[in-house]
Amino acid sequence: MNKYWNKKINQATPYVAGEQPRPGQKVIKLNTNENPYPPSPKVAEALRSFDTADLRLYPNTNSDIVRDAVAAVYGIERKNVFVGNGSDEVLALCWQTFFEKEYNTGKSVLTPEVSYSFYPVYSSFYDVRCEQVPLREEWRIEPGDYCGKDCCGIAIANPNAPTGRLLSIDEIRMILDANPDVPVLIDEAYADFAEGYKTAASLISEYKNLIVVMTLSKSYSLAGIRMGFAMGDEELITGLTMARDSFNSYPGDRVAQKVAETALLDRDYWEKTRQAIIATRRWVTDELRGLGFTLTDSHANFVWAKPPKKIDAQTLYNCLKAKGILIRYFSNPKISDHLRITIGTDEEMKALIDAIREEI
Ligand SMILES: *Cc1c(COP(=O)(O)O)cnc(C)c1O
Repeated sequence: MNKYWNKKINQATPYVAGEQPRPGQKVIKLNTNENPYPPSPKVAEALRSFDTADLRLYPNTNSDIVRDAVAAVYGIERKNVFVGNGSDEVLALCWQTFFEKEYNTGKSVLTPEVSYSFYPVYSSFYDVRCEQVPLREEWRIEPGDYCGKDCCGIAIANPNAPTGRLLSIDEIRMILDANPDVPVLIDEAYADFAEGYKTAASLISEYKNLIVVMTLSKSYSLAGIRMGFAMGDEELITGLTMARDSFNSYPGDRVAQKVAETALLDRDYWEKTRQAIIATRRWVTDELRGLGFTLTDSHANFVWAKPPKKIDAQTLYNCLKAKGILIRYFSNPKISDHLRITIGTDEEMKALIDAIREEI
């Protein structure tokens, strides 16, 4: 509480990110879903040839070189792409652009009850009513739960976080077909790690109300540059641009734009690293199941694991932390019996499994 803060800040409940190790501290960091591999080697080349004299100039406001790279990768057009300072910023702008304020409507945006914990934070910070829809058995999202409700929008992470479960394109279609009059946001932060699913961006020409949000932080190993983007009908992109230009006209700096463009266009490297993570996820899932853990079939770069009866999630989290291995524990009672473990390199995951063996 502070008397110089306004009421909104005094009442705010901000998002809490996974802890960052102190500089120089040696840890195995499996707590914020970063990619264990470095970004494409072409990024290093791009940085070496970057002309620092250009830094005196403002960047292109729309990050057009990134939009063009996204358009090439997804087979869409520049006008269907919006670029922001990390997908968290893109999501925040989506909340401000698409979902109605509670003082203008009695309707809520629907989000899964267990999902990216930023969604309820944005909702309350931007005065949007939020209805958290309970999941079904084994963390399943039932598309029917998002159909036939009088809402002001829908936001779903696919694959969902922290559960790793995936909706199919047909299930997303079902939600879109039932909600033609409200914006539907699909957050695909982890879609590149999914099996048997590419992207809902393939549907944007069919559905004028679909906005797909994506980040370079995970599958492109670029959490450090803050680049994310949204894909949708041109009118939706125009709305996002209006919100952006009411806040910060230059969300993507010159270095980040060049790096993002370079990484997006190196398809071979992207494919190689994402396959490596999928392969590691497979054996880690089997290994943990063998140790008595209960896991979903994760489609993301993390697993969602409930420890065997012998040890509870919080105790195991603390034991691993004492050994220099950081994973994510959530104190929210709905999910406090599970742990979210980012997929690292094979070496890191072997160290994790060995450390867990010593505790159970
Ligand atoms: C990591 C993550 C993001 C945010 O990524 P940025 O680093 O801000 O681009 C968005 N949505 C979900 C579900 C995430 O897990």
